[in-house]
Amino acid sequence: MNVVVCPRPGTLLIEQRPVPTPAPGEVLIRVRRVGMCGTDMHIFRGVQPYLTYPRVMGHEVSGEVAAAPAGSKLRPGDPVYVVPYLSCGKCNACRKHKPNCCQALEVLGVHRDGALVQYLCLPERFVFSAHGITLDEAAMVEFLAIGAHAVSRGDVTADQHVLVCGSGPIGIACALFSKLRGASVTVVDIRSERLSLCRDQLGIERAFRVDADMDARLLATTDGNMFDVVFDATGNPEAMQRGFSYIAHGGTYVLVSVVNADITFSDPEFHKREARLLASRNATAGDFEFVIECIRAGKIPVAHLRTHSAPLAELPAKLADWIKPESRVIKAVVEC
Ligand SMILES: [Zn+2]
Ligand SMILES: [Zn+2]
Repeated sequence: MNVVVCPRPGTLLIEQRPVPTPAPGEVLIRVRRVGMCGTDMHIFRGVQPYLTYPRVMGHEVSGEVAAAPAGSKLRPGDPVYVVPYLSCGKCNACRKHKPNCCQALEVLGVHRDGALVQYLCLPERFVFSAHGITLDEAAMVEFLAIGAHAVSRGDVTADQHVLVCGSGPIGIACALFSKLRGASVTVVDIRSERLSLCRDQLGIERAFRVDADMDARLLATTDGNMFDVVFDATGNPEAMQRGFSYIAHGGTYVLVSVVNADITFSDPEFHKREARLLASRNATAGDFEFVIECIRAGKIPVAHLRTHSAPLAELPAKLADWIKPESRVIKAVVEC
């Protein structure tokens, strides 16, 4: 089968490998769609901290069951998606129903070879039916689930002002799920084209460019109170630090981004607000299921988010272009 391998940063090659044989309890998946993610771009550029090369990327996966283990509810030909956070099932976090932050977590396509292949074997507990949505939609559930998870971490409610810093796919997902909860949502970013997408096609009420007037606009938007819930999805340490100044008294700050840096903040400012600071890592199977319900119900404008696609064999030629800001990629989907 064809496999797209990243042997070292900056290079992608097509290699031939044998079709894998499923171990007992594993599903053999014929991969059909793989969404490309910020994580994949980081791996390709060599800035993902916990990674060894060569690596097969790809963790936003949909496909069809090629072979199911004995006794499985899945049948050959069934459309499926994958929860790519391969948790151990045994550690303290897993036992407390938080497999998304398992102590021994392996993410498909990051810590072990991923889905830019034609066939993939995975234990059945990470493979779920994708009935009622398209394969393209099923490959876009993962980043949406990360946003849905962050919004549930932040306990967003209808009477709140929500600020989302960063309008990449995950920031957009945080904004969309906050809006579904009825909150008044503002997105800020440095990229004007993303802000117009948020306003014109995704129905986000306010999308402001980061500039000298922005803080005044944020204050005006919230009657001088700032935001009940702030999400950071910038991947930028300075922006993450600045986000503390947008928290309302009694508010919550959810760090969805992860950066390889220390983040500091003013304790008196944090304390007088009685602010809550939360990390939000990955998503749970329940978040994936919720996203799929929302897609089925037509509540997520998935078609506006899938901006680019290419067949697997063309990915090595395409990826370097997709990374460039002028290509205006929101979500690119590889067709296997
Ligand atoms: Zn992803
Ligand atoms: Zn675990």
